[in-house]
Amino acid sequence: MKLMEYQGKDLFRRAGIPTPDGVYATTAEEVRSYVAAHPGSWVLKSQVLMGGRGKAGGIKFADDAQQGEALARELIGKVLRSVQNPDGEEVKSLLVEEKVRIASEAYVSIAIDRAKKRPIVMVTRFGGMDVEEVAEKNPADIKKYWIDPAIGYSAFIGRQLAFDAQLPEGYRKAFPQILGALYTLFMDYGANLVEINPLVLTEDGRVIASDAKVELDDNGLYKHPDVAQWNKQSPADEDQAAAVAIGLGMSNYAKLGGTIGVIANGAGLGMGTMDAIRNAGGEAANFLDIGGGAQAELVKKSYDLVTGDPKVRAMFINIFGGITRGDQVAKGIVEALKGGDVREVPLVVRLTGTNAEEGRAILAEAGFVPVETMDEGAKRAVELANATNGKQ
Ligand code: GDP
Ligand code: MN
Repeated sequence: MKLMEYQGKDLFRRAGIPTPDGVYATTAEEVRSYVAAHPGSWVLKSQVLMGGRGKAGGIKFADDAQQGEALARELIGKVLRSVQNPDGEEVKSLLVEEKVRIASEAYVSIAIDRAKKRPIVMVTRFGGMDVEEVAEKNPADIKKYWIDPAIGYSAFIGRQLAFDAQLPEGYRKAFPQILGALYTLFMDYGANLVEINPLVLTEDGRVIASDAKVELDDNGLYKHPDVAQWNKQSPADEDQAAAVAIGLGMSNYAKLGGTIGVIANGAGLGMGTMDAIRNAGGEAANFLDIGGGAQAELVKKSYDLVTGDPKVRAMFINIFGGITRGDQVAKGIVEALKGGDVREVPLVVRLTGTNAEEGRAILAEAGFVPVETMDEGAKRAVELANATNGKQ
């Protein structure tokens, strides 16, 4: 689970890491009234999951309420794009924060080093928007330390890193405490990544986390139900939101790059289906795990979601009938898709397991293409997708 900046900073504050004062806002009116009540200079920060907001035009500065409102109007609803994220991401909310006067921008992160099986700390004094370039051109400027989880963090690690990375003098006192708090957060919340870029040294000598990037391991979310709840209230990305909207779990739907829409029951079968499609020379456009049942209503909603992707040229439904019998699945599919207001794309259905033959008969009667094996289905779907390519 990836957190937005404002959520990451919520965790920072719990851990005792200093963050700028501010407020989270979803409308331009809220921004205006907040700035009006708190005169000064403010930063408006687009709340999206993609990085590189500064370069994408998602960070603006306002000196009064009117300007704040105007900039907020400009940002909310805007689609931010970057090289890493060419599809873009729509801005739905803002973080309004005290604009600090920056003396220096450092970078600090903790991630998991799988090879070394330890959390790795990375620090550089060349933080800010061009840190990727530092990593590429001057990797020696990034100092690393692998924390032994059995021993944990001690302040000497922070002092040594601050010294090795030649952080400006002003960071020296605060840095060991901030890194310690970041490590505690990393462990307590089961993070895959915590990153502060920039960790700002202000002109008046404060050290503040100006940005927050946090990724949590979903398997550890049960330890913090309040945080797990954040995702349900505002699913982190559109795929998750779409899956939750039709009553599935948030990881049940994912968009991919190809032309064949995939519905399968079970994530394992879904992965197998995608491999089969690739072996047949095609590429899945998306994948939806419909779960245990195949009631008509859920089939319809799933079909609509998957075919809602304009890249989809053919559909492949791959169901293993276990507890759910094949004839029921077939009836669900027919009932959901016959004559209704559904986008018509060539549909291949592979049914196997309990009552599969009965199920296939029902499908054939309704005019769908039933197949027996996954490979056969993948091959048919790729042929059909290629045949309709460009004709829509
Ligand atoms: P990112 O581009 O998505 O990583 O967004 P950041 O939160 O890191 O902001 C990008 C850049 O905006 C920072 O590197 C700063 O240079 C600038 N910035 C952000 N907040 C402030 C601020 O309070 N004062 C000043 N002067 N610059 C800021
Ligand atoms: Mn940043």
